[in-house]
Amino acid sequence: MTKADNKTDWKWQIANRITTMEELSRYVDLSDDECAALNGSGALAFAITPYYAGLLENDALRRTVLPSMNEQFAVAGELEDPLGEENHRASQHLIHTYPDKVLFLATSFCSTYCRYCTRSRIVGKAGPQAGYEDSFAYIAAHPEIRDVLISGGDPLTLTDSVIDGLLGRIRSIPHVRTVRIGSKVPAVLPMRITDHLCEVLRRHRIWLSLHFTHAAELTPETASACRRLADHGVQMVSQTVLLKGVNDSYEALSELFYGLLEIGVKPYYLLQCDPVKGSAHFRTSVERGVELIRSLHGNLSGLAVPQYVIDAPGGGGKVPLLSMDQVRRVGNEIIVTNHTGHAYRYPDPAE
Ligand SMILES: *Cc1c(COP(=O)(O)O)cnc(C)c1O
Repeated sequence: MTKADNKTDWKWQIANRITTMEELSRYVDLSDDECAALNGSGALAFAITPYYAGLLENDALRRTVLPSMNEQFAVAGELEDPLGEENHRASQHLIHTYPDKVLFLATSFCSTYCRYCTRSRIVGKAGPQAGYEDSFAYIAAHPEIRDVLISGGDPLTLTDSVIDGLLGRIRSIPHVRTVRIGSKVPAVLPMRITDHLCEVLRRHRIWLSLHFTHAAELTPETASACRRLADHGVQMVSQTVLLKGVNDSYEALSELFYGLLEIGVKPYYLLQCDPVKGSAHFRTSVERGVELIRSLHGNLSGLAVPQYVIDAPGGGGKVPLLSMDQVRRVGNEIIVTNHTGHAYRYPDPAE
């Protein structure tokens, strides 16, 4: 194999992403629905790394990354920006919803796009190209910010030198105590986790918040990427979106959470799926989510149980749920109250 065709090179994986029906059909037998969706003009970007395409015999993973015609149906209560992030935009790259912490959207690029992405309005689209200077200045001018969460898009698709520079600038702001990076790279592009990248992350004392959906993602390549990070002293937690027909069972979730612990990743959040436009086919009822988290709490190692949260639509923030007593159903909506006592409505059709 020549260097230019080295599948273990992350840059090769990105340069050879699958973006068309023809390329995809070399990996999977496509259904009529998938072909129609791939031929149509969906709102959400489509791309999959060749590495991840190799895992798509698994139906659960397949549903998370292959387009479906269901995406083209918007139902009542769905929004382009379900968390109202644009109302909290502090600069070109910053969303400042909670006083203590700021979301730094460092890139709109992902190596692989998830079909339920809460930021589908932004990802895979060329946004304005201004640099990060305004964002550094904003953080420096706001001493209440103690936690910077770098997300996107997927920040670990940037080069080592861009990541190093970005982290260096943020770390030089004295009131910033914690810096996190949100990424799905260990699941979709594990060869990106090189020793050099691990050293950069270790040097800046970064926490990683990793997106995992299903135990089928925990391949030997992904396990070795996470172990390499752990060996370099990089702390890792996971975020999982609860998805109908993908991971909405006790078995699927417990297998995933124990598997994550085994590779050094602490399950952090199980997120109720945000009501982003075209995601109704992915959403489970809140009742089902509460039932699942209760049985996980009742059985699993406490370390394996994440917090189940619903991100209150319209910018109410994350609300941890442990019981249906915390919410109220009114017709086809769930009313959830955040820490300030404000009520927010989440679309959740009655069964
Ligand atoms: C989820 C989120 C964060 C981080 O929240 P944690 O609960 O601290 O993990 C920060 N900003 C925004 C806008 C978020 O949605």
